[in-house]
Amino acid sequence: MKLPSTPRARADFQRRLLGWYGTHRRALPWRASRDPYAIWVAEIMLQQTRIAAVLPYYHRFLKSFPTVAALARARESQVLRLWSGLGYYSRARNLHRAARQILTRHDEQFPRTLEAALALPGVGRYTAAAILSIAYDVPLAVLDGNVARVLARLGALRGDLRAPRRWRHLTETAQRLLACEAPGDWNEALMELGETVCTPQTPRCAACPVARSCRARAAKLTNSIPAPRRKRAVVRVRIAAAILLDPSGRTLVRRDPGAHDDVLFSRLWQFPAVAVARHPKKELAAHLRATLGLRSTSLTLEALPTARHGVTFRHITLLPYLVRLPRLPRRARTRLLPLNRVTQLAVSSATRKLAAAALHS
Ligand code: SF4
Repeated sequence: MKLPSTPRARADFQRRLLGWYGTHRRALPWRASRDPYAIWVAEIMLQQTRIAAVLPYYHRFLKSFPTVAALARARESQVLRLWSGLGYYSRARNLHRAARQILTRHDEQFPRTLEAALALPGVGRYTAAAILSIAYDVPLAVLDGNVARVLARLGALRGDLRAPRRWRHLTETAQRLLACEAPGDWNEALMELGETVCTPQTPRCAACPVARSCRARAAKLTNSIPAPRRKRAVVRVRIAAAILLDPSGRTLVRRDPGAHDDVLFSRLWQFPAVAVARHPKKELAAHLRATLGLRSTSLTLEALPTARHGVTFRHITLLPYLVRLPRLPRRARTRLLPLNRVTQLAVSSATRKLAAAALHS
């Protein structure tokens, strides 16, 4: 892969990309700050989540926890409540744990070295490089899917970019190209180019500031680089959930890591639920008997409209059932509350959909 290799060609390449970024960068709230904490929160939220979805969460989160100390002192349930609906809840748990470590081991400051940053829960090579370069000007290049696609097209690199040898090669290339006098801007410029111009489908080469250095464009290979990744086979799952309801409109939620917990309910508050095969009603009734001691013969399960839920390669069908009871059972790790207040707890999007189905019924 031959990208601008002479110092002069590299300087010209960097000047064009940085110039473009200075004019075209989107005004995003985390770009207005060089506070490592604010950048860190943004980088974690942006993992596997679109910018538009992140924005309202980001504002709310920083309003509630404006500093790393405020986050460290919060209860986990508060943190999860603010993350509720954003998905991938291990991110929030790790962020919270890392904030506590920063408070006790790093004097409330995000660490300045790669080694110390990587020791924090939830901080990998990409996240560490992004935060350190943007907040502290540490000359570390980032490599994510966007940057890899841009570099692969610039150098007409074929094959699966995630293959270890190619990824290593791209990492070295990214580091070689880094504009060391402005590493944060440089990293953001490459990411911005990948997100807005050198997009996965139909890149806008006419608007690209580095088009003249692009080998894929010259060879008319922009649509075949990068090679499409082999998709994981879709797994279909059906989850039956019981929305128990007493005469006063209260329901029961619990925090009970089950077989599908990490995927769907993420150890947050959830309605009693179980993965089902052929007979959802029967299987759910058996689950309620086994876990809550409810006698299945006395239960009436009223089917509510189903909902679809996608988590990566899993296509999940949620089958909500309303179960009216004269009295809700009391068990450890359960909570009884009005149905319309369930979404005020830390709950996943799947639980929100189930609650909505019940409230609309
Ligand atoms: S010229 Fe086109 S393919 Fe090449 S880097 Fe620019 S946008 Fe991407």
